Parts: sequence; structure tokens; C-alpha cells
Amino acid sequence: MSDYKNTTDFDYDLFVIGAGSGGVRASRIAAGHGARAAVAEEYRVGGTCVIRGCVPKKLLVYGAHFAEDLNDAAMFGWDVPVKRFDWAVLRDNVAAEVTRLEGLYGQTLASHKVETFLERATVAGPNTVRLASGKTVTAAKILIATGARPFMPEIEGIEHAITSNEVFLLESLPKRIVIVGGGYIANEFAGVFHQFGSHVTIVNRSDTILRGYDDSMRDRLLQISIGKGVDFRFKASFDRIEKRDDGMLHLAMNGCDDLQADAVLFAVGRKPNIEGLGLEEAGVELGERGEVKVDQDSRTSVPTIFAVGDVTDRIQLTPVAIREGQAFADAQFGSGGTPVDYDCVPNAVFSHPPIAGVGLTESQAREKYGTIKTFTSDFRAMKNVLAGRNERSLFKLVVDEASERVVGIHMIGPDAPEILQAAAIAVKAGLKKADFDATVALHPTMAEELVLMR
Ligand code: FAD
Repeated sequence: MSDYKNTTDFDYDLFVIGAGSGGVRASRIAAGHGARAAVAEEYRVGGTCVIRGCVPKKLLVYGAHFAEDLNDAAMFGWDVPVKRFDWAVLRDNVAAEVTRLEGLYGQTLASHKVETFLERATVAGPNTVRLASGKTVTAAKILIATGARPFMPEIEGIEHAITSNEVFLLESLPKRIVIVGGGYIANEFAGVFHQFGSHVTIVNRSDTILRGYDDSMRDRLLQISIGKGVDFRFKASFDRIEKRDDGMLHLAMNGCDDLQADAVLFAVGRKPNIEGLGLEEAGVELGERGEVKVDQDSRTSVPTIFAVGDVTDRIQLTPVAIREGQAFADAQFGSGGTPVDYDCVPNAVFSHPPIAGVGLTESQAREKYGTIKTFTSDFRAMKNVLAGRNERSLFKLVVDEASERVVGIHMIGPDAPEILQAAAIAVKAGLKKADFDATVALHPTMAEELVLMR
């Protein structure tokens, strides 16, 4: 039911810049509340997650899993003689699915009567937006939902490198790919390309991977990845990248031997999309990393301008951007929103095998609570045992000794993210270790380890 009283002084009640996870949610919810809403998108409706992030990435991860499954199939009695991977087939099927989803997002906006401008927009004042076509529109409220983009360091020859934006469009499967960075995106693509048969080298400036994740999970993924044949070069950096006449890339390195590759993918962080947006001119305060500074209502230093999602650099995840967009729209155009709670946001790395976690890592918990207990289960998944795959899973519960509450769960192993989503409810609800113990196991599953750790 429409509950918002329109303003008549402006062309729109809400103008959203960016039709990604946060912007689409905010504009359609605001329109549902009766606001006259519009959104501008300079690339493709759906944003990073749908077009060149979570969705196509996960589809590649599914594709990559077939490599192991087809190998393991023999031990389960299946004779699969031909195992040939065709990158172009998967790439084009993923691209078609992305286009289908893009269409659905466009339809959702239209059915909610959100006017969509497929062009770049910038802020021209506290209530004014300028469109690339030259048109200027006014709005009672402006929402910045422009997301983030890959950061590219200044290195000679960096134009020969690609980012996660281009990786989904590669002409052919690189025989050798160098992936730069130690974060989740780098590790996910390392797993994907390794499974497809590329030789993968991860180059990282520091001496480890996945900073901020639980140490035991990081160590386990590193150990498994090395075992599978992924190469790592730590404490290494680039001097320059040269493209040879035959198309091969020569990577002149500091801290390790030079490398040769067919592709080099930089995944060294993402920076907020604020360049040329007119924010500073409008008086919007930015933080040190270029993020738009907002209060808990997602309001910037200019009272009519708000921001949600990656551009605010709170937690750069789709469900967080969606919640921020929803809370903003409900608060500003509905009968009041529920503020976003950033505590216990679950996370996953869709590596091979995947990692998932919620709450505090062991070291964070120790710092916060002083005395903690950890319970771990280090096991080989039943399927891996029969397949002869020597790959161990690791589940960990982190418990605050004083309150006996489970304050963190971390896992690495097949389907860890699928299992963790349900377990995250228990951590969010503040359940105690005794509540886990009191729950009867569901056998035979991997998830049962969660209630069997003593
Ligand atoms: P976006 O979705 O980036 O949308 C911003 C939109 O604004 C874009 O469409 C952009 O074109 C548009 N835009 C920018 N400037 C302008 C302008 N001036 N005018 C008009 N339009 C403009 N998150 C997860 O939760 N799970 C995952 O598994 C996951 N995997 C990821 C994998 C990769 C490779 C990447 C890159 C990201 C991944 N993410 C994942 C993160 C997730 O994609 C982002 O957190 C999420 O998309 C942020 O939503 P947003 O609305 O803030 O921005």
C-alpha cells in the first residue's frame, strides 16, 4: 500500500544513481511506498553482483567442480571416458544467464514504476542530478549506490593485465594465469582456473592469504591449494609487465623470479566509485579510502543525499547492500526502517574447497573475551574418502568461556557455505555450546560435526 506523500517541488521523490544490489532494492521499495522514483545506470542493470560478480563467479565455480566430480566418478562406478573442458561453452552460457537476469531486474524496476535511465548520472547539487544526455532532473532525495571497482596499481604495462570485470569475457582459457592478490576474489579465481586446467600462480605482497579470515581456515586452504598444484609467490611485487610479440606476458618481479603468463589478473582490492560524481562539490564528505561517509541511516553530510552499498565501504557484500537499500527506503519513504545490524554477517570464499565463517575468528574472540575455548573437527568427507581424495575438512567453534556462547563458527570443506548459513542463525541468536550439544546429529552429513564436537 502506498504510504508516502509525494513532494511536488521536485521531479522525483527519489533519484538513485546506480542500479546494482543496493540501488535496485532501494528504488523499488521506495516506489512501492508510493514515492516517484528513478534510477540511472551507466553500464548494465543488476550491478556488479549480477553482471560481473557473485552470480557469474558462482556459475564458474559450479563449472569448475565438474573437474573433480568427473575424476571422482570412477570410484563411484561411473565410466566417464571423455573429459574435455570447453571454456567458450561455459563462458557463453554464463553470459546468456547474466543477460536473462539483467532483463528480470529491468522488468522488476518497470513493474514497480521506477523510471530507468540507461546512462551515467552525476550529482549537480543537494537536489539535482545531471544525466549524461545533458538533461538535469531534481529530486527530494538522492541515493548514491554506485558500488566499487577493481583497484589497479600503477605498474608499467598494467594495461596488459585484466581484472574481475574482464575475466568472464576471456577469448580463450589461459594456459598459465598469474593472479595477483590474496583476498577472496583472488582465491576463488585461482580455484576456478586450476580446475579448468590452467596453471595458476598467486602472487601476493604479504606472506599469507585471506587476511581477516580465521587462521586455521587460511592455513588449510593454502595447504590444500599447494597440494593441488597452485603456485604461490609471497612477498612479491611487480616491476613491470611486458607483452611479447607472440602475445605472451613477461612479468618482471621483485621478491621472486620473473614469471611468464598468458593472462595476469589483478584482484588487489576494490575502491568506491566516486570519481567525477560531483560529490565533493556538493559538499558530501568522503573518507580516507574515498568512501562516502554516512551515518547509521545511510545519510551523508548533505541531508538530502544518502549512500548505500560498496560505495560506503562498510561491508562489501551483496546482502549487506540490499539490506542497506531496504532500510533506507523503508525509513525515508515508508513507516520506518530497521537499521542494518552489521554483527554476525556471514561470509564465504568459494574456493576449492570453499570456506565459510560467521562471528569472531579465534584471534578476534581471544582479544575480545580473554578466555575462550575452541572445538575443532578435522575430518575427511565421506565422499572424499571413497574417491581417494586426500583432502581434509576443518570445522571450528569459537566459544566465549564466561558466557559459554558460541561467538564464531568457521569451516572449510565441501558445501561449507551452504551449511554455514543455517549455523549462522545460532551464532546470531547467541546460542550456547550446550545448545549445540543438545541437538541430535543428522547422520550421515558433514554438518553433523557441528553438534558432535566435544
Ligand atoms: P554495485 O552492484 O556495484 O552497483 C553499482 C552500479 O552503479 C553499477 O551497475 C555501476 O555500473 C553503476 N554506476 C556507477 N557509477 C554510476 C554513475 N555515475 N551513473 C550511473 N550508474 C553508475 N558479494 C557477495 O555477497 N557474495 C559473493 O559471492 C560476491 N562475489 C563477488 C565476486 C566478484 C568478482 C566481485 C567483484 C564482487 C563480489 N561480491 C560478492 C560483492 C558484490 O558484488 C557487491 O558487494 C555488491 O554488488 C554491491 O552492491 P552495490 O549496489 O553497492 O554496487
